[in-house]
Amino acid sequence: ARQGTALEVKALDSFYGLSRALNGIDLVVAPGEAVAVLGANGAGKTTLMRSIAGLEPPRSTGEVRLAETRIDKMPAHIRACSGVVLVPEGRQVFPELTVKQNLQLGAYARKGIDLDTEIEAMFVRFPRLKERIDQRAGLLSGGEQQMLAVARGLLTGPKVFMLDEPSLGLAPLVVDELFASFERLRIEGMTIIVVDQMAGHALALADRAYLLETGAILKSGAADIIAEDPLLEAAYLGGE
Ligand code: ATP
Repeated sequence: ARQGTALEVKALDSFYGLSRALNGIDLVVAPGEAVAVLGANGAGKTTLMRSIAGLEPPRSTGEVRLAETRIDKMPAHIRACSGVVLVPEGRQVFPELTVKQNLQLGAYARKGIDLDTEIEAMFVRFPRLKERIDQRAGLLSGGEQQMLAVARGLLTGPKVFMLDEPSLGLAPLVVDELFASFERLRIEGMTIIVVDQMAGHALALADRAYLLETGAILKSGAADIIAEDPLLEAAYLGGE
């Protein structure tokens, strides 16, 4: 049985300057639920993730709650420490730092954890990273950089783990490997929001999905129902 909500977004509007990118978004994620956010290029998926994480731009109005706590007035770093963790689009790692240093940075604000143990746990999740522990992150393959970005995000201690287009530009086998790691997280009870262009993978992972079009929610529902919905294809074809 679901107990309460992990994340709730109410009447969220987001703007770049005067231009409105999100219009009245309502979204709820239950604890342990995996939710997919789908839509064409420019629909507002990244803007929604950034708004929840408190990153600027955009500028947002509306309510964002982590469990019972209003977080929409909090700066991004406080939201991250509170457990709203975004792995941004484009596998952003620090290219000049080693794999290990990147991982250490993920956990920098956490107190009372055994960092070495936590990092070892990431190497169990992503064995490829262990082989590259002392390499500069910029020298990793695209897939390995994305795994590093995910591992770093996990070390931040997420309560809600948001993944923005994790499969972008990666080979199919690597995408399978990544999504297998997300599936493992889901089984462990992590609350996940995944944005993806490849709706198939995201929908297979997710319990529920939201379909965005031009900054508004066109439809939401059980992932297997959305997967069959003609609006899904229409939304993607309707992109810029
Ligand atoms: P993509 O898959 O391309 O990332 P998306 O669904 O994530 O698409 P957003 O990137 O959130 O869409 O863009 C939503 C709208 O906001 C688009 O109209 C886009 O042009 C606009 N937008 C995004 N970023 C900015 C920005 N930094 N400045 C101005 N407008 C922006």
